[in-house]
Amino acid sequence: MNDLISAIATASGAAGIAVVRMSGEGALETAKKMFSRRGEFQPNVMYPGVIDAGAFRDYGMCVYFRAPRSFTGEDVVELHCHGGTEIARGVLRRTLQLGARMAERGEFTRRAYLNGKLSLSAAEGLGEMISASSEAQVRAGYLLYSEKLTRLGTQLQAQLTECLAQVDADLDYPEEDLDADAREAIETRLSHVGQRLSALLAQYSAGRKIKSGVRVALVGAPNAGKSSLLNALLGYDRAIVSDVPGTTRDLNEGVLEICGVNFLLTDTAGLRESADKVEQEGVRRAKDAIRGADVIVWLRDEAPAPDFPAGTPVITVGAKSDLARRGGCDVLVSSVTGEGLDDLRALLYERGFGRENDDAFLLSERHYRALLAASDAVKEALRAVKTEPGELYAEDVRRAWEALGAISGETANESIIDEIFSRFCVGK
Ligand code: GDP
Repeated sequence: MNDLISAIATASGAAGIAVVRMSGEGALETAKKMFSRRGEFQPNVMYPGVIDAGAFRDYGMCVYFRAPRSFTGEDVVELHCHGGTEIARGVLRRTLQLGARMAERGEFTRRAYLNGKLSLSAAEGLGEMISASSEAQVRAGYLLYSEKLTRLGTQLQAQLTECLAQVDADLDYPEEDLDADAREAIETRLSHVGQRLSALLAQYSAGRKIKSGVRVALVGAPNAGKSSLLNALLGYDRAIVSDVPGTTRDLNEGVLEICGVNFLLTDTAGLRESADKVEQEGVRRAKDAIRGADVIVWLRDEAPAPDFPAGTPVITVGAKSDLARRGGCDVLVSSVTGEGLDDLRALLYERGFGRENDDAFLLSERHYRALLAASDAVKEALRAVKTEPGELYAEDVRRAWEALGAISGETANESIIDEIFSRFCVGK
């Protein structure tokens, strides 16, 4: 077992309780020296008692997790004291006086990884959950944490191993050329792996939206009702509403959560030519927002549609539906009566994010790159499998296998592992 590490596992500041966690050799013995319970410690049982921090005492709880059935796979003890900075610090200090060492960032999770309790992508999923800014990010993080991606990677690796075994069998008997059936079997397997990889890679755009939000540009002529719509969607007065055309000179923004996904709404300045310098700047920024948008909400009027970037979905809105009911729109909306707001939210989710992405979990660039490298190598192998001798494409298959191994951590190097765990906080 490793040396004893200790850290405050909860965030600092005033709170009901705080948790000081120790992991490694002597965790229970150390806890016993500072906790009032005299009897035996059953694993996974919370005991109430007095925590002796040396400088002061607190009434709290203590729980012991016996190796290997703990988060880190080592002996772990948690001391639950009252919250607030000083109490937790004092309890931590006491564990250090009794021989524990201050844990480094992510060291608990790193140990869990090194002890085989979770894969690298699961550890990263946990990190996503902890740093999440939307429910969708928590959901995606949990899928990673529950080893969904590592399992998929391992299944694909198994398929590649099968291919390699077939090639190897061929290489062992070079005089018997790999027959057409065997080649076809390899090809079928490889193309299956390739399809699975492509399907996974296609999730990445949704993953980016889960992580950073779906960018929405509200576009329309001055006075079309953009600021009012932004406020109505957000449910509070974020933008200044005025009936003087051109008053929305800057970008008014707000975050709207739909089904757990964050939508970053930008109310662009009215798109019109103007001599006013400030307004011109507003128009320039509006154009940038439109270029960068994942989905455009266009408040339609009599004028023809502006030049929207090709490929960006557009939701056509008939605004001020309480005053006039415009034809040819996806949805009629009134910021005054609230008509159509729910339908607009549903359309934003469908066109800006996509129901098919409800279970997307490919959020991390590292995972994306690993899958992309694997996919490229499989494509190379597929090109060669028909015509080239086995030893040539076997190399591509091996490369794909290695790339997939980076997801679980099997083939990840030390510096990548360091980088991943350094992103965690101390105590996780
Ligand atoms: P923007 O320039 O596109 O941002 O437009 P505003 O949101 O500032 O709205 C311009 C004017 O239209 C204001 O006087 C609003 O009160 C009015 N307005 C906006 N939305 C509605 C609506 O749904 N119904 C009605 N009756 N008036 C609206």
